[in-house]
Amino acid sequence: MQRDSKIFNLIEQEALRQEEGLELIASENFTSKQVMEAQGSVLTNKYAEGLPNKRYYGGCQVVDLIEQEAIDRAKELFGANWVNVQPHSGAQANAAVMLGILNPGDRILGFDLSHGGHLTHGSHVNFSGKLYEPHFYGVEKETGLIDWEKVAEKAEEVKPKLIICGASSYSREWNYERLREIADEVGATLLADISHPAGFIARGLLNDPLEHCHIVTSTTHKTLRGPRGGIIMTREDFENPLGLKTPKGTIKTLTQALDGAVFPGTQGGPLEHIIAGKAIAFGEALTDDYFNYIMQVRKNAQAMAKEFLNRGYDIVSGGTDNHLLLIDLRSKGISGKEAENTLVKADITINKNMVPFDDKSPFVTSGMRIGTAAVTTRGMKEIDMARIVDMIDTTLMVRADERKLEDVKIEINEWMKEFPLYS
Ligand SMILES: *Cc1c(COP(=O)(O)O)cnc(C)c1O
Repeated sequence: MQRDSKIFNLIEQEALRQEEGLELIASENFTSKQVMEAQGSVLTNKYAEGLPNKRYYGGCQVVDLIEQEAIDRAKELFGANWVNVQPHSGAQANAAVMLGILNPGDRILGFDLSHGGHLTHGSHVNFSGKLYEPHFYGVEKETGLIDWEKVAEKAEEVKPKLIICGASSYSREWNYERLREIADEVGATLLADISHPAGFIARGLLNDPLEHCHIVTSTTHKTLRGPRGGIIMTREDFENPLGLKTPKGTIKTLTQALDGAVFPGTQGGPLEHIIAGKAIAFGEALTDDYFNYIMQVRKNAQAMAKEFLNRGYDIVSGGTDNHLLLIDLRSKGISGKEAENTLVKADITINKNMVPFDDKSPFVTSGMRIGTAAVTTRGMKEIDMARIVDMIDTTLMVRADERKLEDVKIEINEWMKEFPLYS
């Protein structure tokens, strides 16, 4: 077959963009070559509906071993007793959890999207807000922090079936212990979505949600640095909250309900090439190298926070416990959209982001979200964070001057050569 040069040339262009630019999107990272090799392997050819040793297709003897290895490594990494590694993404993991334990119309209580939550936690544009009745808690205006007693009050008022904790742009620690008490008081199931800080949690650098939450979901491609995908985990099994019946009998436990909600509930055949990549990434995350990496991610985020504060930027909550910073740009008189569009001209990639109590639309926003997971993979340290902040500040200040933006871009492209990525 003729090689598809059009697409491969574009992939080459994207590789160059990644090599030459400064990647600060908090949800992105650079996965290892061996993870990519697994993703591009013959495993993509295999159908394997079902679970290891319980498949609906023949010829699964090899992929069974791969998927079981992924499950075992995830269990070890997170101290979980049950894991499903099949969700195609973080959104799919959350969809499966909700299908597995809720009835349509049930009330759910999640962290407000405009305060840092995720679309799949009840947004009206997402299945979670269309199929279920969404309610939200948020942060305090003065501190940018969640007040757990306010969450308790909200839960008491709403009486949700499911409480969701976890976020896409909240830089602080979660009180899973208090949230579990709240969930128990109102008879709710507690889900922690650790898509962003999963790497810190895996290596014990943030509170352990599995100790307190009934269910934990995550992506595998953010701080965890694996292939694009999702997982669902539990430490303890419980009675199935729905008491769901199947033609063959009753699904007795939560984990049986969750397995069924992934397949056949919301997905067809699992992506065994991605699952192989997940297994490799979990193995990598268990190493000392990864531990040093994820420690450095946080040191870098904290160094960056300090530099931004020194330059008079407002950071929501005043700092960070993880890999990300949410910066309120209103004091600098620039919108999130303008910041994103300006920085990209200098090959600095961030994303515009709503800040709590934002007065601008989600298409404009007053904030920018920055993360250190990707630049730390490239080998950058605290001293480099100071230079990054200097370059961001310069870029935003000279934003009307295209020539100066071009100068910053050239400087960045040169600098990135010191941190080779895949070459
Ligand atoms: C990124 C993210 C997701 C969704 O992950 P996808 O793989 O993009 O579907 C879900 N929840 C949270 C909190 C996230 O940050």
